[in-house]
Amino acid sequence: MWSTARFLRCGSLTWSRSSRALAQGSEPALNFSDGRVFRLKSRWEVVRGLLIFRLCSVPTLVKNSEKLLSVSRRLLGRRLFEWGMRVSVYGQFVAGETLPEIRDCMERLARLGIRPMLAVPIEEDLGEGKSGERWYEQNEEIMLSCVDLSSAGGDRPMMQLKITALMSADLCKVLSVLLSDPSHRAELSPQKVVSIMEGQVSSQKPPLGLCSHLAVTFFGFSLGPYNPSLFQDSAFPFLTNQQNLHLQTSVRRLSRVGKRAKAKCVRVLVDAEYTYMNPALSLVTMAMMAQCNSDEPWIWNTYQCYLKDSYKNLNQDLDSAHNLGVCFGVKLVRGAYMEKERRLAKEKGHGDPIHPDWSATNKSYQRSLDKMLDLIGQEGKRYNLIIASHNEESVLHAAHRMAVLGIARCAGAVCFGQLLGMCDHVSLTLGQAGYLVYKSIPYGSVDSVLPYLVRRAQENQSVLQGIRKERDLLRQELSRRLLRRS
Ligand SMILES: Cc1cc2nc3c(=O)[nH]c(=O)nc-3n(C[C@H](O)[C@H](O)[C@H](O)COP(=O)(O)OP(=O)(O)OC[C@H]3O[C@@H](n4cnc5c(N)ncnc54)[C@H](O)[C@@H]3O)c2cc1C
Repeated sequence: MWSTARFLRCGSLTWSRSSRALAQGSEPALNFSDGRVFRLKSRWEVVRGLLIFRLCSVPTLVKNSEKLLSVSRRLLGRRLFEWGMRVSVYGQFVAGETLPEIRDCMERLARLGIRPMLAVPIEEDLGEGKSGERWYEQNEEIMLSCVDLSSAGGDRPMMQLKITALMSADLCKVLSVLLSDPSHRAELSPQKVVSIMEGQVSSQKPPLGLCSHLAVTFFGFSLGPYNPSLFQDSAFPFLTNQQNLHLQTSVRRLSRVGKRAKAKCVRVLVDAEYTYMNPALSLVTMAMMAQCNSDEPWIWNTYQCYLKDSYKNLNQDLDSAHNLGVCFGVKLVRGAYMEKERRLAKEKGHGDPIHPDWSATNKSYQRSLDKMLDLIGQEGKRYNLIIASHNEESVLHAAHRMAVLGIARCAGAVCFGQLLGMCDHVSLTLGQAGYLVYKSIPYGSVDSVLPYLVRRAQENQSVLQGIRKERDLLRQELSRRLLRRS
């Protein structure tokens, strides 16, 4: 466990220097090589971090991680498997499952000057069809309680939201294909989605289990008898009745989450997922923005800069927000689905949607970052940005540009984000220097976070700068402790 008192003692010098820099309005030198942060970890946490980063660098293990996890689960049985996960990968990257576990994690971070950004990593991929409409309804309850939990998590709370927890991935794909056709794009506008969100029955939450006695099977689950009065004016002629009905119930779920978040002053950062569903996710996110962002950016969208189209998409959405007269929040990431995106493109004979190499992704990231920082330099209330990255160069570049553009470190228009269990040295250094920094905190049962954990393994496989540095710092810390003992 991390000892806050010890951290505050060893971090006080850096803090007072940073405070002076803040007072003088100068740009603080950010030193990401300060391994003192790892002194706050227990010996087991240091060893576990090293082991996990080491295992993640074995390509065969990572490539087969999904299979390995499911075989281990079968062989070990649920209880033993869960115990193993909790002391290893789950313990490293996930806050926990119960309220006390999540609160404990939030409080520990808060004491270190790091803000929690809760994330429920429930998501759906094509053809999964989970267990029907009831599954999405239950997820709505989970997202609403995530809003409540976030609002109790301190000043300027934020949370992440996965649209495919509330709306079928298959429908997202259908809508994304339609959005690529100019003749449908005009009809599938954010304004139209808002009208569906605010339709006749929008204030009524469908009762849990509404669909349990239904006859129509849609995407593998039962959706209910078609009742035209449910969506008189809101139906799209190019969707089936069932698709229209599911769209309606889904966007109303999203609308309820957005409205609750706004009422509780929680910023909702909508995650980007796969390219075959992202256009639909952006459409409904823009509709949520139209509903909630008139005075402040409560709803944000995510841009994956590993995509060749990310800069174009960002600019299109900036134009849309401008036309709708709403504020705009951006989560800028490099992107977490590279392997699968490339595999699918190859299988389907499509062009690779991802930049050819890491340096092209970096250029793309910096381009979007500069664009957003310039806008915030001009209108910091209208535009907000989170630099969701572990990359020290991106972080340093952003800090430098903020100083040049006169963007205050702690005003909130710009903040930084890293994932729980990754690059604590970056988060702590930023927090100590007075920047707003958030840790994305996934929570949930071991089973529900498995896809998230597989992605973390894949991400850590490419020995990139941040992870390499973290491994070196952990190794130094372990050697220091062993030498001190001997
Ligand atoms: C708060 C937060 C929220 C997040 N939300 C999302 C989200 O909504 N959607 C999402 O997809 N991800 C999300 N992520 C994950 C994020 O995409 C990864 O953490 C990020 O890509 C890791 O990169 P990095 O910026 O830390 O930089 P680095 O570690 O420097 O870069 C690694 C990244 O570069 C890219 N890359 C690596 N090799 C290549 C190559 N050969 N060619 C092209 N590109 C390459 C990949 O995107 C890889 O992940 C989020 C992360 C954080 C911290």
